[in-house]
Amino acid sequence: MSAALHARVSGATDLNTLKGVGPAMRERLERLGLQVAEDLLFHLPLRYQDRTRVTPIAALKAGSEAVVEGEVTASDVIQGRKRSLLVRLRDGSGIMSLRFFHFSQAQVGQFARGTRIRLFGEARSGSTGLEMYHPEYRLLKDEPQEVEETLTPIYPTTEGLAQPRLRALIRQAFEHLDQGSLTLEELIPDAIRTRFRLPALRESLDYLHFPPPDAPLETLADGHHPTQRRLALEELLAHQLSLYRIRLRIQDDAAPALPASGGLATRFLTQLPFSLTGAQRRVLSEISADISQATPMLRLVQGDVGSGKTVVAAMAMLQAVAGGYQAALMAPTELLAEQHYKSLKRWFEPLGIEVAWLSGKLKGKARLEAKAMISEGRARVVAGTHALFQDDVHFQRLGLAVIDEQHRFGVHQRLALRQKGEVSTDGRSSGTTPHQLIMTATPIPRTLAMSAYADLDVSVIDELPPGRTPVRTVAVSDERRGEVTERIRNACMAGRQAYWVCTLIEESEALTCQAAEVTRDTLTEALPEFQVGLVHGRMKAAEKAEVMNAFRDGELDLLVATTVIEVGVDVPNASLMIIENPERLGLAQLHQLRGRVGRGRVESFCVLLYHPPLSDTSRERLAVLRESNDGFRIAERDLELRGPGEVLGTRQTGLVGMKIADLTRDRDLLEPVRSLTRAMLDQAPEAVEPLIRRWLGDAVGQYGQV
Ligand code: ADP
Ligand code: MG
Repeated sequence: MSAALHARVSGATDLNTLKGVGPAMRERLERLGLQVAEDLLFHLPLRYQDRTRVTPIAALKAGSEAVVEGEVTASDVIQGRKRSLLVRLRDGSGIMSLRFFHFSQAQVGQFARGTRIRLFGEARSGSTGLEMYHPEYRLLKDEPQEVEETLTPIYPTTEGLAQPRLRALIRQAFEHLDQGSLTLEELIPDAIRTRFRLPALRESLDYLHFPPPDAPLETLADGHHPTQRRLALEELLAHQLSLYRIRLRIQDDAAPALPASGGLATRFLTQLPFSLTGAQRRVLSEISADISQATPMLRLVQGDVGSGKTVVAAMAMLQAVAGGYQAALMAPTELLAEQHYKSLKRWFEPLGIEVAWLSGKLKGKARLEAKAMISEGRARVVAGTHALFQDDVHFQRLGLAVIDEQHRFGVHQRLALRQKGEVSTDGRSSGTTPHQLIMTATPIPRTLAMSAYADLDVSVIDELPPGRTPVRTVAVSDERRGEVTERIRNACMAGRQAYWVCTLIEESEALTCQAAEVTRDTLTEALPEFQVGLVHGRMKAAEKAEVMNAFRDGELDLLVATTVIEVGVDVPNASLMIIENPERLGLAQLHQLRGRVGRGRVESFCVLLYHPPLSDTSRERLAVLRESNDGFRIAERDLELRGPGEVLGTRQTGLVGMKIADLTRDRDLLEPVRSLTRAMLDQAPEAVEPLIRRWLGDAVGQYGQV
């Protein structure tokens, strides 16, 4: 039995305790993510139909669903363009038609004149006035027919499982609940519920599965009903708690206590061509205090592009080395990893500290040698890509792992790293876990960061090194492409370099790369006196690196690129960036791109070359970028304009899929969830496990295994 299943089984009731659930039905339910009987209670309707009253024909509106009752006045098979059965119906208020394109002979017979029927369907305006196509219908006998007492839920379902069947199963689950053969525990204590004004769990589920006729349908459709918010809050709470639990688990481990490295640090700082900013010093002292403890550090450093995160990481690594341990720095791309390797070498070698390099690209003898340096401990510092995660890489004594640009790595990779410190070369456990430092240039608004990274402490480098001139940003319509080309010519004539960035076309990398090739050709023709290069995602890593190096060394004047250059590339002489169709990108990404210029002393420019007409939102978003160079402000605005799903990218943060909560719709819950989480940890610690199990199910197994 898998760990996941095991986790679900305790305190859960098997699906087959419900009548009518055999292997085939179980398979369908599992397709819906329903694994135990209790899950049915949490399978919420997508929307509702109002079958609680009969609507007079005269009051029917095209486009809305309704129950109608009437008497058949005529019924004919029409031989039109498409053969159909047309039934005319009358009630006291008006007439309408029902139309069937698929029908049996028996059906034709059913609709004799004078027959009374009740039907449900969507009214539309057709050639005979108001019509319903293929309505659900029932012939009425003499006795009066009741209407539904509650709104009719429409559930998300799957092939082979019709609404009535699913509805009946869910109803049955509620019956079992009433009879006590199924249990549903209220896991949030009354005192906390009162404080956060949360309706009770049972009450909320009853309401959502069987809403009264006067339920506010619009509020429900928007997901803003208090009962829906209570469930969303509970789900967010469960996710939050699971992140805290990971953190607690990691903090149970021992980590090497790495005391601050006085002398070595001073030597490091004196050889730097600059002095640290106040923000760098503050963050560094936070890190230094963390890693001097015997508990693993889990710290996220957020700093805008160019805020100088690398040198902060290097200082932390130095502290690990001084304490007799190794330190590793991991980056998401070869290009970035190599850049880091070069910086680290430049800074560490004068101090007699050996730096190794490992990437997927490194093969054969060179790879073996790198691995040997790492496992024998000759290399005190290692830079590389996620190749460092691989099983065949062993550290002698890893004390600190730094992960750059965290948003590209997930929680799981982060956890995998933890094991690297646990096994030493001789295969015996060293009994310690490395400290972890995660660095990201994607500023994440505070509320969101707390939710996405609840398992991490957060430090912010909120100051740029002095002497930078902010990038001036302008938005220009692509009808003025000629002027923009002139601008590139002027910059290059003055000995500067420029980037031309092509954005993603229709989610297709192939199309985007093609477009970039065309742009390269056009610009080569328009600017014959300059050297134009091209990098895109479909090129081999080696080719890409060659072009990037040529650009860095000034052999190329203009670099046409897709967004592959987004992260970390440092070419101070580049002072102009053109971004084509910026309206296709998120603000944070645009800001990241723009951060490639403005790294030197001269004033830099960013031209947002948009394709008119712009929508109001696009216009507003580009304005944010023109007005601000502050990554955090931009991220806050992006959050307001696009919502957290877009800003974070669920996959990127390692947040597991949500069943009910929606980070965009429910973002105002993120703040209350934080205090709710604290309240639960303080007042109801015994509810933590069951809550996580209720909402994360399988994912608990995944997290648990790391
Ligand atoms: P990021 O935070 O985007 O990773 P980097 O670490 O690449 O930024 O630093 C950007 C540039 O700024 C590098 O060339 C780095 O050497 C330089 N730098 C870092 N800190 C300072 C500082 N305090 N003063 C001046 N330049 C600095
Ligand atoms: Mg960086």
